[in-house]
Amino acid sequence: MSETTKKIETTVLHAGHRADPTTGSVAVPIHQTTSFQFRDAEHAANLFALSELGNIYTRIMNPTCDVLEQRVTAMEGGAAGLALGSGQAASAFCIQNIAKAGDNFVASTDLYGGTWNLFANTMKDMGIECRFVDPSDPENFRRAVDDKTRAFYAETLPNPKLNVFPISEVAAIGRELGIPLIMDNTAASGICRPLEHGAAIVMYSTTKYIGGHGTSIGGLVVDGGNFDWEAHAERQPYLNQPDPSYHGAVWTQAVKGIGPVAYIIKMRTTLLRDLGSAMSPFNAFMFLQGLETLPLRMERHCSNTVAVAEWLAKHPAVETVIHPSQQTGELKARADKYLNGQYGGLCGMVLKGGKDAGAKFIDSLKMFYHVANIGDARSLAIHPATTTHSQLSAEEQEATGVSAGYVRLSIGIEHIDDIISDLDQALAQV
Ligand code: PLP
Repeated sequence: MSETTKKIETTVLHAGHRADPTTGSVAVPIHQTTSFQFRDAEHAANLFALSELGNIYTRIMNPTCDVLEQRVTAMEGGAAGLALGSGQAASAFCIQNIAKAGDNFVASTDLYGGTWNLFANTMKDMGIECRFVDPSDPENFRRAVDDKTRAFYAETLPNPKLNVFPISEVAAIGRELGIPLIMDNTAASGICRPLEHGAAIVMYSTTKYIGGHGTSIGGLVVDGGNFDWEAHAERQPYLNQPDPSYHGAVWTQAVKGIGPVAYIIKMRTTLLRDLGSAMSPFNAFMFLQGLETLPLRMERHCSNTVAVAEWLAKHPAVETVIHPSQQTGELKARADKYLNGQYGGLCGMVLKGGKDAGAKFIDSLKMFYHVANIGDARSLAIHPATTTHSQLSAEEQEATGVSAGYVRLSIGIEHIDDIISDLDQALAQV
């Protein structure tokens, strides 16, 4: 059975490492080294020329990071992965790998606030235009395309709206036009496999559910190996034309003997080499610890969150509950299609008392942590309008679904009775 045909509960424990060949260590060793000894001059030259694959320097590759890359790639059913220093680095690299100044890409409006800022401002400063479109009509992506459009970008389960993205619909439009769909699957880690629905690239903030322990910041990009970059050579010039930054390599040709990994090899050998957003081996080890229990934790995150959403929906202080299990019609059908019977661990609510009630509620929580994070094993809460989304204008906040009274909950894996009890006492204060 290949790594990619095994079930994810198995691949997260076994893919990419059996036992250390030198020591027999079953746990993946932390290769806390900057560099790797070359066998001889020819070996060194071959590694640099990419005619042989192997370790050179930890900014570009590391055996501990490699196991994490292989495990997440196997979980996604992809071709190869790249671990990075943060989810932000992963989002930036996903675009910069195939777009340069003068190019554009189309992104869903339903994005994490940090990604929004990166795309609307920092990318703009780099000369790369992000065209934001409402994902409720997949055709909006087609309408925004011109001959300089290089990518589509979206989140599977975007908070705060939690409207599941129409992956296969937008991926199909992209494939017609030679445009890969890049999916941020962070909030649906382990419950959705976007590549199966036609996405070309999957990226993660491993900081969230993949870690689960809340100890480490990291990101990861998986190349699906399922996108024909050569068939759209004009649309994707940077994978099909000589790259002056790697002595004229044409990436689609350079990987011919390795596999359908042009996108991720280019990212590793140029962007990671030059911008240096590497994941530390220690953090890779931490993410491997988290990944081992991801499927189990997600089951609990998801079942707890359904129970919380049901309970909140009946609470007199709550105006609206935002969770896929509470949706109806097309949105619910989409959630059912993509989330494999689970609806994620995030839940939003709008309190009848608005912003003041939101603040009072947050300050009254005793067990929930008040932090700017999601996907921790512990339950977390935040008021996005004054924190994660505060650098956005009022119109931008509205477009991303953040109203003044919106409270975001990231439901943990504690006993459901204790979660409800904390929510109950805090809501009694508003
Ligand atoms: N993508 C999503 C959906 C996120 O929630 C976050 C962080 O909150 C990121 C990307 C950025 O990840 P990181 O904080 O690891 O840089």
